[in-house]
Amino acid sequence: MGKLLTAENFKCDRHCGECCKKMLVQVNKEEINRIEKLGHKDFIFEDHFNESRFFLKKDEKGWCIFLKKEKDGKYACSIYKNRPKICQQYPFFNKGEKVESCLPEDLYPNVFFKFPAKTRQEAINF
Ligand code: SF4
Ligand code: SF4
Repeated sequence: MGKLLTAENFKCDRHCGECCKKMLVQVNKEEINRIEKLGHKDFIFEDHFNESRFFLKKDEKGWCIFLKKEKDGKYACSIYKNRPKICQQYPFFNKGEKVESCLPEDLYPNVFFKFPAKTRQEAINF
């Protein structure tokens, strides 16, 4: 097993964007207001089963609409300073949590398709 990641030692510097491509981000009213103040419109959708829950929309590729591919091929959040709390916490949602990997398919293997090892490396090694 490799070194476990903790909120203290983890630094996302790979810009693979895998979390922003695959995860669904729930936002609260305060976060919605903050993003609206940046000039954004039409960036949320309502939970069909619970009208008080809202999520950030996805683009045609299924990625978070605020995820942008930069000229160097890396990915960045276009509202980084105002990104929702869930995004700030990822991949640690509980105090003292330790994880082996920050990739969604490793964190939630029952939800996301696991890439073959080679493809996985290509995905995270830009
Ligand atoms: S999956 Fe991990 S390395 Fe990739 S962008 Fe998200 S936090 Fe960073
Ligand atoms: S708001 Fe930003 S950090 Fe959060 S999922 Fe979208 S692109 Fe990623």
